[in-house]
Amino acid sequence: MLDSSDHRILGQELDLFHLQEEAPGMVFWHPRGYAMYRALESVVRAWTVSSGFEEVKTPELLRSVIWEQSGHWHNFREHMFAFSDEGKSAAMKPVNCPGHAQIVKRRSLSYRDLPLRLSELGIVHRNESSGVLHGLMRLRQFTQDDGHVFLAETDVEREVADFCRSLYDFYRALGFSEIGVAFATRPEQRVGSDAVWDRAEHALAAAAKGAGLPCRLKAGEGAFYGPKLEFELGDRLGRRWQCGTIQLDFVLPERFDLSYDDRSGARVRPAMLHRAMVGSLERFLGILLEQHQGRLPSWLAPEQVRVLPVHAEQRGYAEEIVSRLRQRGVRASCELGSETLARRVAEAHALRIPFSWVVGAREAADRSVTEREASRERRARPLVEALSRAQSACSAPISAKDTPYAGSAEGSD
Ligand SMILES: [Zn+2]
Repeated sequence: MLDSSDHRILGQELDLFHLQEEAPGMVFWHPRGYAMYRALESVVRAWTVSSGFEEVKTPELLRSVIWEQSGHWHNFREHMFAFSDEGKSAAMKPVNCPGHAQIVKRRSLSYRDLPLRLSELGIVHRNESSGVLHGLMRLRQFTQDDGHVFLAETDVEREVADFCRSLYDFYRALGFSEIGVAFATRPEQRVGSDAVWDRAEHALAAAAKGAGLPCRLKAGEGAFYGPKLEFELGDRLGRRWQCGTIQLDFVLPERFDLSYDDRSGARVRPAMLHRAMVGSLERFLGILLEQHQGRLPSWLAPEQVRVLPVHAEQRGYAEEIVSRLRQRGVRASCELGSETLARRVAEAHALRIPFSWVVGAREAADRSVTEREASRERRARPLVEALSRAQSACSAPISAKDTPYAGSAEGSD
């Protein structure tokens, strides 16, 4: 049975998204849900750029020759949507790595260019059977915050440790404290020799140890091209979902024949790291919705401030407030409607809007607002103070140096 804090119920109640059988496992984002989606996307993007990544965009549909080269055609084909494109076999991308490898291949790299970090908020498709689909948690089309680092083998340990540190900061900034880590080793079906796998597993284990991560072993659950560290967050039912990952790969650089000039001028193969912080943006939003039971942190709330004029006479003042909020990057709206004030306040609370401001004749005269909290508390504030308070409560945690997660509008100052 679905309960009221299931993200699928919240998605309906808060008018965020829907799924329908004509597009199984693919999301129709409604305006409110897409506002929330874009808020997460911009935090992920800012965090990724501040970690030294350059953002790229690569095609959704690639001819199979690329997938044969990467090994996906052999090892992952049952999860891919394949087509005939002008008589040639092609498939929607289930991952972004082969696309990034095409960019790297066109550069003539020297050791000075490394580590080279490319990121993409890439839409990927995976052909999951309808039986395993589960709301936003398991989809057939989703957006990965994917990133690939091309680097010298000697730099792997430091890069992995830096990623782990940054990822923990990121999760903490978003309000997660319990983070599980698993070390997934070589699967049955794989590419690359045992000697290469020995080297990759050893290096990744050393990096995890160096970062002080207590890992649980998941034998045989690595990607087909390399071992990985998986970072799991729990939902309200105690289920654990894989979100972040980092995988060490010596195989794809070989298969795509990537190389760089080392200090002595010799052509050398780079190592490759595949990493993601949230994994699937959609799944991460599902986890956040459940964790907060729809009462999202202010920076993520689809609508952050709702201004409620008592009478039509205050409409002009209310609209001025909304426009000043929008100029400050705050998502705000004004709701006059035909309903009573009490009903409009109740509706704003039901939608879990962090701030509801009532403006009547008195507020318009002295340029103030009256905050109406869900706790029924009322507090008058000068408009200028209310504006800057809302702006700071609604600003996103965009890098590790930012103020830690503040929980809710009330807790932020
Ligand atoms: Zn990858």
